[in-house]
Amino acid sequence: QKQVVPFQEGNASMKALLGGKGANLAEMTRAGLPVPPGFTITTEACLAFFKVGNRISEDLLEQIAAALKQLEKQKGQTFGDANNPLLVSVRSGSVSSMPGMMDTILNLGLNDLTVQGLAALTNNEKFAYDCYRRLMQMFGNVVLGIEGYHFEQLLHRLKEKEGVVQDQDVTAEGWKGLIEDYKKCILAKTGLAFPQHVYEQLRLAVEAVFKSWNNQRAQIYRKINRIPDEQGTAVNIQSMVFGNMGSSCGTGVVFTRNPSTGENTFFGEYLINAQGEDVVAGIRTPLAIAALKSEMPLIYEQLFAASKQLEKHYKDMQDIEFTVENNKLYLLQTRNGKRNAQAALKIAVDLVHEGLLTKEEAVERIEVSHLDQLLHRGIDEEAVKDVLAKGLPASPGAAVGQLVFDADTAAEWSRAGKTVILARNETTPEDIHGVIASEGVLTSRGGMTSHAAVVARGMGKPCVCGCEEVRIVLDEKRMFAGSRVVEEGDWITLDGASGRVIIGAMPLHEARMTDELLIMLKWADDIRTLKVYANADNPEDAKIARQLGAQGIGLCRTEHMFFSPTRLPVVQRMILADNKEDRLQALSQLLPMQQSDFEGMFEEMDGLPVTIRLLDPPLHEFLPNLEDLQKRHTELTYNKDASDLEREEIAHLLRKVQALHEANPMLGQRGCRLGIVYPEIYDMQIEAIFRAASGCIDRGVRVLPEIMIPLVGHANELKILRELVDFVAEQVLGKDKLRDCPYKVGTMIEVPRAALTARQIVAYADFFSFGTNDLTQMTYGYSRDDAEGKFLTHYVDQKLLPHNPFQVLDTEGVGQLIDLAVNAGRLVKPSLKTGICGEHGGDKESIFFCHLTGLDYVSCSPYRIPLARIAAAQAFI
Ligand code: ADP
Ligand code: MG
Ligand code: MG
Repeated sequence: QKQVVPFQEGNASMKALLGGKGANLAEMTRAGLPVPPGFTITTEACLAFFKVGNRISEDLLEQIAAALKQLEKQKGQTFGDANNPLLVSVRSGSVSSMPGMMDTILNLGLNDLTVQGLAALTNNEKFAYDCYRRLMQMFGNVVLGIEGYHFEQLLHRLKEKEGVVQDQDVTAEGWKGLIEDYKKCILAKTGLAFPQHVYEQLRLAVEAVFKSWNNQRAQIYRKINRIPDEQGTAVNIQSMVFGNMGSSCGTGVVFTRNPSTGENTFFGEYLINAQGEDVVAGIRTPLAIAALKSEMPLIYEQLFAASKQLEKHYKDMQDIEFTVENNKLYLLQTRNGKRNAQAALKIAVDLVHEGLLTKEEAVERIEVSHLDQLLHRGIDEEAVKDVLAKGLPASPGAAVGQLVFDADTAAEWSRAGKTVILARNETTPEDIHGVIASEGVLTSRGGMTSHAAVVARGMGKPCVCGCEEVRIVLDEKRMFAGSRVVEEGDWITLDGASGRVIIGAMPLHEARMTDELLIMLKWADDIRTLKVYANADNPEDAKIARQLGAQGIGLCRTEHMFFSPTRLPVVQRMILADNKEDRLQALSQLLPMQQSDFEGMFEEMDGLPVTIRLLDPPLHEFLPNLEDLQKRHTELTYNKDASDLEREEIAHLLRKVQALHEANPMLGQRGCRLGIVYPEIYDMQIEAIFRAASGCIDRGVRVLPEIMIPLVGHANELKILRELVDFVAEQVLGKDKLRDCPYKVGTMIEVPRAALTARQIVAYADFFSFGTNDLTQMTYGYSRDDAEGKFLTHYVDQKLLPHNPFQVLDTEGVGQLIDLAVNAGRLVKPSLKTGICGEHGGDKESIFFCHLTGLDYVSCSPYRIPLARIAAAQAFI
């Protein structure tokens, strides 16, 4: 089986086999672009390697050797030859882009002999030994697992000795000495000498890249980006080109458009006389690409032309690595550039206008999970007084948090419920858990393409980087800026859009819709058939929902209206009433309150349906906690100063709460069960709804109430309650007005039995709304409150379940119930309206399922509406 593919034989469509990097190197080679020749070891080879217990087969070794021979011929150099050595890079390349997550080794093929050859050949000793020490550093770190700082320390000492600041100012003699130090370090740490045999170097490096697929940071990255573990990585072996050979050399990264605003401007950074990751590592602060135009005008023109060519070819913004060796340009990588949500939208809209993409392609391309960050908040400028420093605006958005200086503390504090900002001199892939835990990231070094910037943009987190005015002293847990000192735990605010670091916790304002988002949403609306409703419990939320494009309210939870401080006492009086009369009295006080809530909702949603769910939770949720009461009761019993009246009151309350206490309230007296046993509660709510409707109709508002009965499991439950709704509606509205109020009655399908008996239930229902939170809970038999954070996390970690089913709809199980109920219901009643209103309504995969199942709508929280509109369109495409 062929497990090695030369660049000239591959192409971009072979991503699964060659990895993204390999496939694109092949594609660029085919397009005639200047790519150093090389070959790719396939992902299949990687999987085979894992399968036999992390061992490279003889067959693969032979294939590699053969490809290498071919490469030697192409280059006119020989691997391991003392006079004319071929040097290669060994680069990881996964199928889905995972920038910086896995390992790459450069300058492989150098040893004590070949380094002399290289020096003689290039007439540049300093350069040759610089390459050699870099190889030892990368090899020591990636292959032998020696922590980077051991090498850094030795390097630092050398520079101090030579009295230089920059790596490129170290002398050839300096490098030679360092190489001896590195050799000792490697021997001391591993008990083995640095391998002089170049084929052994190669074999070990390939193995290490394969294994890096399973390193911790790669695993975490895959998990948060939902990349399957089974993909494996390809390995690219590529002949080296050198950006570190002197002042007519350099290396850099360009984006064909600005990745943080989306503007169609050439964007990037480079360093003269540097190699590989020098630019992204943030060791030296790089120059903006515009400077290349004056420094190397010809190279700049070539680079610009190649970039445009690639962008057209891939129909997307590209992120390109290049190196200049003695005034000759080479391209080392291209990929679709990471960008934040706003840039993604702008680029997609622009590409449609430029005629490169269709609207469908543009909509399809939007990463819906990234839309979240667009709908995030910005800083309230009025409040900004104290700007500590300004860095590069690497990833927009505002973040407020307490300052921490290392990733572990960030993770720890965030687990303890704090919001944190991670500040580092620069971040490395080892810091990723800290970045995940933080609201935003600040670095004092590194450019717009530094690790921190790339990772933060990918996660949609605000980031300010290269903020050289601040100096972080890790040991003291302090940050200095001029004469100012900021301590760990101090509050700061980052503005990733302007690069400002602001002292204190600034108030933030709500998100705004950009023009590009509005255009994209309009296109999505033209495409999609699935409607998007909102879950909204009050008029303010309804208003926001409508602004964001809601086509109705899919779930208004009436109990949320009961929790305000003025209402709760009345609700409690209603619950605690000893007789019906007292209960009715309390209810009559609640009625106008509910009525005004509903009026507000109807007015905001004028002309659109409003689905109101009658009271759902168990009553004790409105009462004081049982244990607290028992404590207070005991206290009062032994408190001599307490009056008899007080004691009697608390005893009464305690008895009531005890009486209402349930062993398993989620399965107890709640939902329609409550409404049937205490009809006066639902009666009041229904009356409030129709009185509100009546008032609104008088004011010319078009009302479309949809009354939803929760937790129905048997058709008779709905039958009784539907009769109640119809009765009250007619009582309140009278025959005439009823005609102006085309209301619906339906049920939530959230008990498995309801789904199974949909055929019976539909007789009394105008709509079914799948309450997928409860339906998931009851189908799996998982108590949500007990599952999340406990066994469920374990299950997902162990890959026993593909996802948390409370986040991503379990289409296989719960989905079957939905499908069954929709089909059974429609068979009896073709006009039946169907939708879902659980948390899943805002999840992309779940929305896809809803579309495929033929539901009429999904209902989600207001801020997820734009996301749902796009996802619904994507589902159609
Ligand atoms: P990553 O996936 O982390 O970007 P890469 O494989 O792209 O890792 O390589 C890391 C760095 O080394 C990049 O800057 C790349 O351009 C550089 N590099 C890789 N191969 C070569 C090569 N053959 N010649 C010169 N530089 C190279
Ligand atoms: Mg790398
Ligand atoms: Mg790269």
